[in-house]
Amino acid sequence: MELRDKFERVIDYLRISITDRCNLRCIYCMPQRGVKLFEHKEILTYEEITRVAGIAAALGVRKIRITGGEPLIRKNISWLIASLKAIKGIEDISLTTNGILLEKYARALAEAGLNRINISLDTLRPDRYREITRGGDISLVMKGINAAEESGLLPVKINMVPIRNLNDDEISDFARMTLTTPRHVRFIEFMPIGSRDLWSDKRYLSTDELKKTVEKISPLIPVRLRKRGPAKYFRLDGASGVIGFISALTHHFCEDCNRLRLTADGRLRPCLFSETEIDLKPALRKLSSDMEIERLLRLAIEVKPEGHKIDQRDDLSSLKNMSRIGG
Ligand code: SAM
Ligand code: SF4
Repeated sequence: MELRDKFERVIDYLRISITDRCNLRCIYCMPQRGVKLFEHKEILTYEEITRVAGIAAALGVRKIRITGGEPLIRKNISWLIASLKAIKGIEDISLTTNGILLEKYARALAEAGLNRINISLDTLRPDRYREITRGGDISLVMKGINAAEESGLLPVKINMVPIRNLNDDEISDFARMTLTTPRHVRFIEFMPIGSRDLWSDKRYLSTDELKKTVEKISPLIPVRLRKRGPAKYFRLDGASGVIGFISALTHHFCEDCNRLRLTADGRLRPCLFSETEIDLKPALRKLSSDMEIERLLRLAIEVKPEGHKIDQRDDLSSLKNMSRIGG
């Protein structure tokens, strides 16, 4: 079965945030004091998450990404991965993490059936990492990356958010990583969402600017890695790794959007930037039938907007933190 929205986009990808809590406080994502957190009872149980994923898979969802907050701080995550893996129709399970706890969990995650991992890393310099994450230790992330590779969670994808006058002098260093390792490095445009203490147009770097910087190393050769999804991929001449660009604000983002998001407190979010959410929790907690959950999933796809139109919005204050939506 294939699930299409009214703009003929195939929806086959569900991003599930399993917690809004985090062990870091990245300056572009969360305020230092943290954010108001859900109460524990508001957060979906693993059984509830697995139920939603099963119904979504029967409708045509094939890929799941686990995210957060920081997903690795939630207990028994391997149990969740194994339960999702057992769902008929689910072909690929991935996870986005800051990598701090990855050394400890990589093997168990791989054994539970995790296919791939994305690690968020915005600098390669220990002092700058401490500054950006407000106290994080980059050596733990590096150990986590190695553990992921040793556990076969390949290819490891590194997500970097380039921000002017913060880490934009490291764009080439990240790109060069693809010359010496098979890692995928993905540059994600900084978005006006989350802790907007840091956000300003002046801090923002477009994909076009990022590409120009990377092309000083060598021309970017287009690579087709996936049928759908927001990233556009390239390779530097002779590289074993791949470079991706995720242009949230400029081109090619919405037209290829293939996803729904489920927040940690059980709301379906058809678009990262939309305020529309469909609350599944009352139906889940009332033990409503699978048909009712299916109806709500279909409704979320029905109201999925054609594009985020964020450039036409003056007031972005209602946009939630990424740590609540799951990035
Ligand atoms: N804690 C995990 C991590 O950092 O990978 C998963 C959740 S985090 C919210 C998911 C992704 O959102 C990270 O790669 C992070 O860099 C990205 N992110 C957070 N705020 C962002 C912003 N304002 N613009 C662009 N990306 C952002
Ligand atoms: Fe935490 Fe990830 Fe946000 Fe950093 S980007 S504060 S690691 S949720």
